[in-house]
Amino acid sequence: MENSNNYQVLLYYNFVEIEDPETFAAEHLQFCKELGLKGRILIAPEGINGTVSGTVEQTEKYMKTMHDNPLFKDMMFKIDEHDGHAFKKMHVRPREELVTLRLNDEDVSPLEKTAHFMEPQEFFKAMQDEDTVILDTRNDYEYELGHFRGAINPDIETFRELPQWIKDNKEDLKDKRVLMYCTGGIRCEKFGGWLMEEGIEDVHQLHGGIVTYGKDPEVQGELWDGQCYVFDERISVPVNQKEHVVVGKDYFDGEPCERYVNCANPECNKQILCSEENEHKYMRGCTHECRVSPRNMYVKEHDLATEEIERRLDIIANEEKENMKQNA
Ligand SMILES: [Zn+2]
Repeated sequence: MENSNNYQVLLYYNFVEIEDPETFAAEHLQFCKELGLKGRILIAPEGINGTVSGTVEQTEKYMKTMHDNPLFKDMMFKIDEHDGHAFKKMHVRPREELVTLRLNDEDVSPLEKTAHFMEPQEFFKAMQDEDTVILDTRNDYEYELGHFRGAINPDIETFRELPQWIKDNKEDLKDKRVLMYCTGGIRCEKFGGWLMEEGIEDVHQLHGGIVTYGKDPEVQGELWDGQCYVFDERISVPVNQKEHVVVGKDYFDGEPCERYVNCANPECNKQILCSEENEHKYMRGCTHECRVSPRNMYVKEHDLATEEIERRLDIIANEEKENMKQNA
């Protein structure tokens, strides 16, 4: 396929033993910088996890060099076309774990045991069977923007809360076929072994994650609603090529919305779905406290005068009063 955008975003991971993550990370950073890539890569004793952007030439060279290394010879790259970099800087950081679960003694290495892999077409069929549970292993703000139709939302803020959620809901899961998925597959691959040890035996993971499912020529993302949240400047990518059902809801008025912004109070920084109109109306603050914060970035960006801030706060206050009356 012709890529008129000239840039690519690569998403990849590989569970493989890396002996000296600190040294590896330092050398890998040097290599990425020389290539001209930007992005975020984690190196741990259990492997590598990265998202990088660069020109087609830079990213192709990166993939080739990685595949020439015996450690990463089978590593799967998910490739998206893009019109520029998806990051501002290049980071390569050594870490204890590739995805933070903090299971310590209970941790099961995916190199030893993980859930059965399902390819997109098989996953698509299995989702429509009875007695299956579709489990989204991602965080709440990712689910809210888009998910597989009928998937369970564990409503977690971070991945390390998932084991407890499983323990609390085990009775509902253990006699069912569990189909789990995440963005690129790494969270499920890391988590699968532990789930099986917990007694959830009939558990399957979507190979290559949502992003691979969306590109599969057969399923074309079918049964996915909304968009897929990604951890770079793009924020979201499309998945379902056949239809687009919006499931995201505006934080302020509940209207269909797929636009993520960060709360303008840097001490809060909460991600909220919100229309452009509501961003202006609420000065991008998720609460009254965030709106009136002396560090509110929206106020700075728009150089709002005190009278204007007060005018907007009055409108919000009056509306809230009206709503209270209506609900009373
Ligand atoms: Zn806030």
